[in-house]
Amino acid sequence: MYDIIVIGAGAAGMTAALYSARANKKVLILEQETIGGQIATSPLVENYPGFMKISGVEFSNNLFDQIIELGVDFELEKVINIEDLKDKKIVTTEYNTYESKTIIIATGSKHRSLGIDNEERLIGKGISYCVLCDGAFFKGKDVAIVGGGNTAVVSAIYLSEIVNKIYIVQMLDKLTAEEKLIEKINNIKNIEYIFNSKVDKLNGDTSLESITVGNRTINVDGVFVLIGLIPQNETFKNIIKLDKYGYIDADEECKTNIDGIFVAGDCRTKNIRQLTTASSDGTIAAINACNYIDSI
Ligand SMILES: Cc1cc2nc3c(=O)[nH]c(=O)nc-3n(C[C@H](O)[C@H](O)[C@H](O)COP(=O)(O)OP(=O)(O)OC[C@H]3O[C@@H](n4cnc5c(N)ncnc54)[C@H](O)[C@@H]3O)c2cc1C
Repeated sequence: MYDIIVIGAGAAGMTAALYSARANKKVLILEQETIGGQIATSPLVENYPGFMKISGVEFSNNLFDQIIELGVDFELEKVINIEDLKDKKIVTTEYNTYESKTIIIATGSKHRSLGIDNEERLIGKGISYCVLCDGAFFKGKDVAIVGGGNTAVVSAIYLSEIVNKIYIVQMLDKLTAEEKLIEKINNIKNIEYIFNSKVDKLNGDTSLESITVGNRTINVDGVFVLIGLIPQNETFKNIIKLDKYGYIDADEECKTNIDGIFVAGDCRTKNIRQLTTASSDGTIAAINACNYIDSI
């Protein structure tokens, strides 16, 4: 039986495994796709403390080497069910069943994408899903934001001081962000709104050069797609309490509604989803899981 099973080998899950292993716990980490999670798709990270520049893949590989060196077991298996039998938890994957004293869910989230040609190919070459992560790469340039909710508007306010001009492309006839944010964005001069519209095409060979919106071609170096996130929590909804958006409801202690099941990273209810906050959650969840094991 494992002490701790971590589900998801992103920044949160691997940090949780790191702290758990260093506390001499027997740890298994289960990952459905590739190590690193979302950050493994980013060519450049410039805001993780201690690193001037690091690629997402190098960051993920370093963290992975660190946990394997500490004796963490790793399996490339998708978790399809978890069960709480009070004295132990059962984790079922597509291939195996594992027993553990505790579980840390760190399954992250996925950005809703536009679902049009060239989007995937141009990620990191003009297409981004995170202004805090990539905004600085577009200093003095023209960019577009797709979306009109809180995230899009907050991001536009932040970006307006960095870039030359922002086009906000919104499907509806108005912004749907909170009134206070709309008041703020209305005072910003370098934003042009394109309502009742969607991005039809992303144009560019090696990097993004322009977008097509209806019959208009707009030259931009970047497009930020901010049309929502999809938390990867479907598997747990039968026993774990989710908020109305599907995120796992947990307090700052990263405890879920079930004793001995913890949550870390982008899959939990919170305001800021970044590498630093994912690592922070991983730390907190691991320490609390260790304390729980020591108390039973
Ligand atoms: C393109 C891009 C660039 C970014 N750049 C930055 C940046 O520069 N700086 C910054 O701070 N943040 C950045 N972010 C945000 C940052 O990557 C995330 O906030 C952080 O990686 C979240 O980590 P996580 O471990 O919570 O989740 P994730 O990274 O989403 O990892 C979750 C993992 O769980 C796995 N998983 C899900 N369900 C299951 C299951 N059922 N069974 C097994 N495994 C499962 C997933 O495959 C995934 O590997 C960026 C995000 C993207 C997409």
